[in-house]
Amino acid sequence: MDLKWDIDSIYPSADSEEFRKDIEKYKALLNELNIWANENMNIYSAEGLEKYIELKNRLMSFNKLEIYLNLALSVDTENEALGKALDALEGIISEEAVHEALFSQFLKGMTSYKETPVLKEHSYFIKEQKRKAEHTLFPAEENAIAKMKINGSKLWEKQWQSLTSNLVTDYQGLTLTDVRNLAYSPYKDVRKAAYNAELEAYKKIKTPVSYCLNGIKGEVLNVSEMRKYNSPLDMTLEDSRMDRDILHTMLFAIEESLPKLREYFAVKSEKLGNSGALPFYDIFAPLGEGREYTVEQAREIVIKGFYSFSEDMGKFAENAFEKNQLDIMPHKGKVGGAYCESIHSLKESRILMNFGGSFDDIVTMAHELGHAFHNTRLFNMSHLNSFYPMPIAETASTFSEGIIINFALKDKSFDKLSLLEADLQGSTQCIVDIYSRFLFEDAVFKNREKGFISADELCQYMESAQKKAYGSGLGSYHKYMWICKPHYYDGDFNYYNFPYAFGALLSKGLYAIYSENGKDFIPLYDRFLSLSSTMDIKDAALALGIDLCDKSFWLKCISVIINEIDEFKKL
Ligand SMILES: [Zn+2]
Repeated sequence: MDLKWDIDSIYPSADSEEFRKDIEKYKALLNELNIWANENMNIYSAEGLEKYIELKNRLMSFNKLEIYLNLALSVDTENEALGKALDALEGIISEEAVHEALFSQFLKGMTSYKETPVLKEHSYFIKEQKRKAEHTLFPAEENAIAKMKINGSKLWEKQWQSLTSNLVTDYQGLTLTDVRNLAYSPYKDVRKAAYNAELEAYKKIKTPVSYCLNGIKGEVLNVSEMRKYNSPLDMTLEDSRMDRDILHTMLFAIEESLPKLREYFAVKSEKLGNSGALPFYDIFAPLGEGREYTVEQAREIVIKGFYSFSEDMGKFAENAFEKNQLDIMPHKGKVGGAYCESIHSLKESRILMNFGGSFDDIVTMAHELGHAFHNTRLFNMSHLNSFYPMPIAETASTFSEGIIINFALKDKSFDKLSLLEADLQGSTQCIVDIYSRFLFEDAVFKNREKGFISADELCQYMESAQKKAYGSGLGSYHKYMWICKPHYYDGDFNYYNFPYAFGALLSKGLYAIYSENGKDFIPLYDRFLSLSSTMDIKDAALALGIDLCDKSFWLKCISVIINEIDEFKKL
């Protein structure tokens, strides 16, 4: 196993013969599809529909060009040649808007069609595109919106990035990221001083950042209105293949359970020796023994843990390490965080992470491998049939986290308190904190509609959202949370919060079913993953016998966490 991933097997380099040849092939095919769509997408026939699907699937096999450049850049961010190559490629890719807009018009005009095997195979794709076509404007308008975004939300996002990444705090001259990482420090005085310095520093940028947020959310409101959505939330739900009913049922269940969930914060506060409610700066404080792990130990834990669930998953993880599909260690010039990328045409994935040696990093490794395992269940489908929405993506990855945590909990050599603490910290962030972020974003959209929102008003919305979510669980809040979370600054992803709560809860529910049914659950889980890309979320869950509009199901998922809190109390 190498610590660096193998991407040379995708392309030897961005200026290799192979890469250049594929760019030429891609351009030719794109041109062919655009010309064909221009001439034929006004004749409504099953043959036309089939031809479009065939050409589009072929075109998508060249996605690996863009994926390769993104992967290469993420471990070498300062590489100008790669940056320019990506910029040039994105210019070519934007031409796909031509046939996509024509296809939307075609679907609006097509009332029925004769079902051929190819069309049957792609019936969900057609249904979804037809649904979206109702909200697609004329090609010229679509083009204008795309151009406007480049100079609107995309630039506001860059402005936000620049303001937050260059902000220096008064705490030893540390940057915002570094000072925020001190929230995990074992020393209380460090956590507290870092938190105070962080809050103080935001005052320097709160006004310009409020312009960024007003700009982005204002644009989203305009676009969603032009597209005739009732609200940005409806637009997001459609992209998530999720009914409003499911979201509301889940939120009701969360609201009902908040008093029980808040007990975790009270117990944690007590364990840390505080006299009152947990201060905000103690949310991420570590508990128990902080053991360090090597990459080799992490690999072994993940593989053994996956094998304890199923032969398939164990073999899959073993193979991913053997074929060097993970880029594991941090280094200068590599992006932070972690992600997983599917390369459908090669039937492989790549994982990037920044291993630091904590148990949390092992959990992250399992999370990303969970995404990659999900991808394997879809490799036999056509490219157009291989996409799944965010809430389901986060279910598969969080389920894998659960496998590893439960595997470790059964092994006496691990420290139970630190395991439970890590698990509960993650769950409560995904539920209680995410609930506050949902409330905040909702308030922002509702008030942005009426006019400009000042920085101080944004702080008020955030504090009131946190009070509603955390209630008496916390002794202090973080009213500037809207400045540091990247999720609010992407004009194409709104309400980028509830999918985390959905994934965290559904994966707990699935794990509970697995605990009750044992190995019989494995083929069902497999089926759920394979159906996830060609069904609405509701129907994929029904295939497992789960009704996502039934509040008692969500309460059952939450009860798994509540049981963990009870156990945590006893330790
Ligand atoms: Zn994920």
